[in-house]
Amino acid sequence: MTAQIIDGKAFAAGLRERVGKVAADFEAKAGRKAGLAVVLVGEDPASQVYVRNKGKQTIACGMESFEHKLAADTSEADLLAVVEKLNADPAVDGILVQLPLPSHMNEQKVIAAINPDKDVDGFHVVNVGRLSTGLPGFVPCTPLGCVMLLKDQLGSLSGLDAVVVGRSNIVGKPMAQLLIAESCTVTVAHSRTQDLPEVVRRADIVVAAVGRPEMIKGEWIKPGATVIDVGINRVAGAEEGKTRLVGDVDFGSASEVAGAITPVPGGVGPMTIAVLLRNTIVAAHRNAGIALDE
Ligand code: NDP
Repeated sequence: MTAQIIDGKAFAAGLRERVGKVAADFEAKAGRKAGLAVVLVGEDPASQVYVRNKGKQTIACGMESFEHKLAADTSEADLLAVVEKLNADPAVDGILVQLPLPSHMNEQKVIAAINPDKDVDGFHVVNVGRLSTGLPGFVPCTPLGCVMLLKDQLGSLSGLDAVVVGRSNIVGKPMAQLLIAESCTVTVAHSRTQDLPEVVRRADIVVAAVGRPEMIKGEWIKPGATVIDVGINRVAGAEEGKTRLVGDVDFGSASEVAGAITPVPGGVGPMTIAVLLRNTIVAAHRNAGIALDE
């Protein structure tokens, strides 16, 4: 293996520690803790794990965690009423509605109901617009975490060729916007892209957010490129009945060619909650009118 391993787990731990210090400072200045409210509808097991981890890490950072667990058959109107209550609650700085929502709910409508200044997930159209026009707002946590890792690894990204594989609203598109803001030359690839290996081969930075296990091979990677693997895919393990997590990049072959690469697990994954906590403490300062050096 030639590539340097980008240790997202360690970076995320450092970020949480910095957020914890800022949160303590906020509490001293504001006379209250910063607060994050998480709303979970239904009993999706993966979502339950995420919400539990978010709650634990919020408290560990010295912030208040408010969890609202609603039954799977809750009406959309009742969920919107909960969001309205949280919008109006001065103890709540950030609101996160865990996706996916049950199919009888309109996700866009629910996200649109969140006060954009409490939308720490950065999914509200106002924050999407702020990101694309360069105004301060909230940026989706996973792509922001990727940019933090890239800047930590490479310093300035200016002038680099970046290829983002995937164009979802939560990862691919905001990732592309962030890389444009860093003055990269950005290509966004997706399922209709022709000759994807050739497109990826151009890139100094490859961000894979596809959801297909080990799809991006080492021979697609330009020697020395930096590879950020957002994918989290559970596949059958070597032992019968066991499973393991892999990314969207074939780590074995890519790590022979890349200059640096994030592993799965332990790369991008741990960044998401750490950035969520960072967004929440930023929201708290803005909502309380307290200056913060970012
Ligand atoms: P989506 O399914 O919403 O988007 C996948 C994207 O990949 C789409 O734009 C799709 O193209 C594209 N795509 C699918 N197949 C191909 C293909 N064969 N060639 C090229 N492009 C393809 O996924 P998400 O963006 O939500 O998530 C992507 C991955 O990242 C998943 O593995 C997910 O688990 C992981 N993830 C990890 C997070 C974390 O680390 N915390 C957070 C969020 C996601 P098209 O638009 O044309 O359909």
